[in-house]
Amino acid sequence: MKPAEMKPAEMKPAEMKPAEMKPEWHSAKRIIIKIGSSLLIDERGLLKAEWLSSLISDIARLSGEGREIVLVSSGAIGLGRRQLGLAAGVLKLEESQAAASVGQITLAHAYEERLKAHDLIAAQVLVTLGDTEERRRYLNARGTISTLLKIGAVPVVNENDTVATSEIRFGDNDRLAARVASMMTADLLILLSDIDGLYTKPPQKEEGAEHLSEVPEITPEIEAMAGSVGSDYGSGGMTTKILAAKIATKAGVHMLIASGQGNHPVSALFEGGRHTWFHAHGNPVTSRKRWIAGGLESCGELIIDEGAATALQRGKSLLPAGITSLSGDFGRGDVVIIRDPEGREVARGLCAYGIEDAAKIIGRHSKEISALLGYQGRAAMIHRDDMVLL
Ligand code: GLU
Repeated sequence: MKPAEMKPAEMKPAEMKPAEMKPEWHSAKRIIIKIGSSLLIDERGLLKAEWLSSLISDIARLSGEGREIVLVSSGAIGLGRRQLGLAAGVLKLEESQAAASVGQITLAHAYEERLKAHDLIAAQVLVTLGDTEERRRYLNARGTISTLLKIGAVPVVNENDTVATSEIRFGDNDRLAARVASMMTADLLILLSDIDGLYTKPPQKEEGAEHLSEVPEITPEIEAMAGSVGSDYGSGGMTTKILAAKIATKAGVHMLIASGQGNHPVSALFEGGRHTWFHAHGNPVTSRKRWIAGGLESCGELIIDEGAATALQRGKSLLPAGITSLSGDFGRGDVVIIRDPEGREVARGLCAYGIEDAAKIIGRHSKEISALLGYQGRAAMIHRDDMVLL
């Protein structure tokens, strides 16, 4: 088959290959790109039209190489607040919801127009936290985005800010993008930001801050670096970017933080631009486990003893006998956090019992379950297939 006859999905992504480009990105077929508000909107609250056009021409190039691209774009609230003439400063929740409903139209239109110039179709996908936390809705959202990619459209995802209240929202698109990357089994997640990666300390404030080009593993030291940087970097700050990195890498997705400030930010990155690369975990888990691990909400906690902690590390299920205490408000099938005796989170899983029944059987042998509950439930509190070790 001549290259011209190949459908995009059959073409091997290979064109962008500068010397610096790592094989892991070079071969990335499905890429999620998160675009922060500060890149898209200028100080007056107006869309940076030229910058966006340059980004979309990068996207068109990647798409032409046979890669599937999902954009996760912020900017709805920022654009809408100007259009509504809302005063500077922090918005009330209902004001930001109103602003998002206005700004999202402008945002979607801006993407549509520019993608169309490259013969690409924009698809608007608005999701809430619930759409990714609840398994059935999660599968639904995944199905829709897969279909769009198969057809060759470019999904442009944002949080559905208009309906998401403060308790049940992502609030930052860093974690939303990571959740989408995990949901779509992406190869690479790129967070385009106003900073070119992670530093050992805040570079604007402290001398001797060193840039980290690679993070093989997210250790407590790495988390501390992000914490010290605080909210100096745009809306989400470095802390949410590290949380995003945890979600993505655990799901087997490589993540990059790079500066998106200049024109053609993706090409600049692929041509060797500065970045921090968070390595994906070597053993990607099943889709079901990815969903469990990436969840932002948990309904309760189980504290386990040393013996159970060792058994989990060996790949065993969690039995009621190894649980010393529990808390929260969970029903059967809800996600709970499992902590070792020192309080460290060691795993997450779907509990086979609601809290009332679970409370009756913890510390007890599985053989006693039917006598304690009056019915024969599962032997394991959390089956190993429903559990992800952290
Ligand atoms: N969803 C918000 C918006 O479109 C942005 C959230 C964020 O700043 O990450 O305005």
